[in-house]
Amino acid sequence: MYCHSEGTTTLVASRKFLGIGSEYPSLKCSHCGAVALLDVNAVIPDQWRIRYRHFSRALRYYYVALYLGKAGWLSAHKALEISTNGYVQRRRVQQARAGDLSWLPPVPLSRPLPFMDADESLYIVLKGVTYQEVAPRGLWARPDRGAVLDSGKLYVTDRALHLLGQRQTWSCDFSQILRVDYDDGSWTVYFDTGDGERLFRGLNVDDQLDAQLIATIIESLYQTT
Ligand SMILES: [Zn+2]
Repeated sequence: MYCHSEGTTTLVASRKFLGIGSEYPSLKCSHCGAVALLDVNAVIPDQWRIRYRHFSRALRYYYVALYLGKAGWLSAHKALEISTNGYVQRRRVQQARAGDLSWLPPVPLSRPLPFMDADESLYIVLKGVTYQEVAPRGLWARPDRGAVLDSGKLYVTDRALHLLGQRQTWSCDFSQILRVDYDDGSWTVYFDTGDGERLFRGLNVDDQLDAQLIATIIESLYQTT
């Protein structure tokens, strides 16, 4: 379920001995090394719960590590939903990396937004994005250390990133992008304003694409234009 390989999972009986160990049997995957405790309801077999104890942190399992690995006990329904979403997400990251964004149709607009060109296409809108200074390089340099200059919604188009901030609209053409990065909690786009380096940054939010997929889409868009 974690890596979606078939025939690599085995169920190992509980090895509780003198009160040490778990009272639940474990599922082990020989492909990705994931180990999960399984709590099966003998009366209603559909109502199992699962809890991951070990999981792979390989980049291809970013989504499932985020939502399955660190979640604690998950109901059957929730675990299967995350597993399915994780499979789709992994496929989309692979496609975006290969330059295939056919699964991401432009957002239909009756007319272009004020900050867009007439022939510019909008792909995604991201909430809660910050516009920040880049912290001086050093031992503690991290993307979240730079001063926040503004925040708002980010519009990702076929040629630029536009942040509709509370103070003003900040735009960055793809030609200004220096690099794109992500970690467990956020994605970051570094760009050159001509007057120094700045960044756009967004956190992982539950009802939005995850940071890995956002970073991969932006990378794919600016590298293919
Ligand atoms: Zn696996």
